[in-house]
Amino acid sequence: GKDHRLARISSSIRVIPDFPKPGIMFQDITTLLLDHKAFRDTIDIFVERYREKNISVVAGIEARGFIFGPPIALAIGAKFVPMRKPKKLPGEVISEEYALEYGTDKMEMHVGAVQPGDRALVIDDLIATGGTLCAAVRLLERVGADVVECACVIELPELKGREKLGHRPVFVLVKG
Ligand code: AMP
Repeated sequence: GKDHRLARISSSIRVIPDFPKPGIMFQDITTLLLDHKAFRDTIDIFVERYREKNISVVAGIEARGFIFGPPIALAIGAKFVPMRKPKKLPGEVISEEYALEYGTDKMEMHVGAVQPGDRALVIDDLIATGGTLCAAVRLLERVGADVVECACVIELPELKGREKLGHRPVFVLVKG
């Protein structure tokens, strides 16, 4: 049946119209973090789903994947790997470009953090067009990891982001 925890998670997320620019309905998860039950339930649902899946890497996308990823990684006994904006990681990196609404951005990962055969879970707060998750998947697959699933708190289904992920499953808690 439907998870009774999801209603509270959903209502704890604040929607701010026209941020950061006109027409964007910004899904603000900082209000979810203020509700300790909603935050705990969010982590618990992911941990229940992934604890028996032999995940060896939780890859968290800057910045809000750094909030949800580490507690999941600790609970399931996986390493946490940050996927960062350019020029933030101090060691040798590999990088992937991805499309934004206007122009492109880059995502970087430390060389050696993920090994061939690692089983990866990718975490972010939200999937919109899917471009961000896709860049993370490409980085992980380039180094020989197996991407088991991508997980987000929120999906904007109208943007059809999961189609961009091809065969990799996308798991979300709520839809915006
Ligand atoms: P996309 O690459 O289009 O799937 O966009 C996903 C990334 O942009 C995630 O890292 C989100 O945090 C952020 N993002 C995109 N749209 C929104 C939105 N409406 N509210 C909050 N964050 C968003």
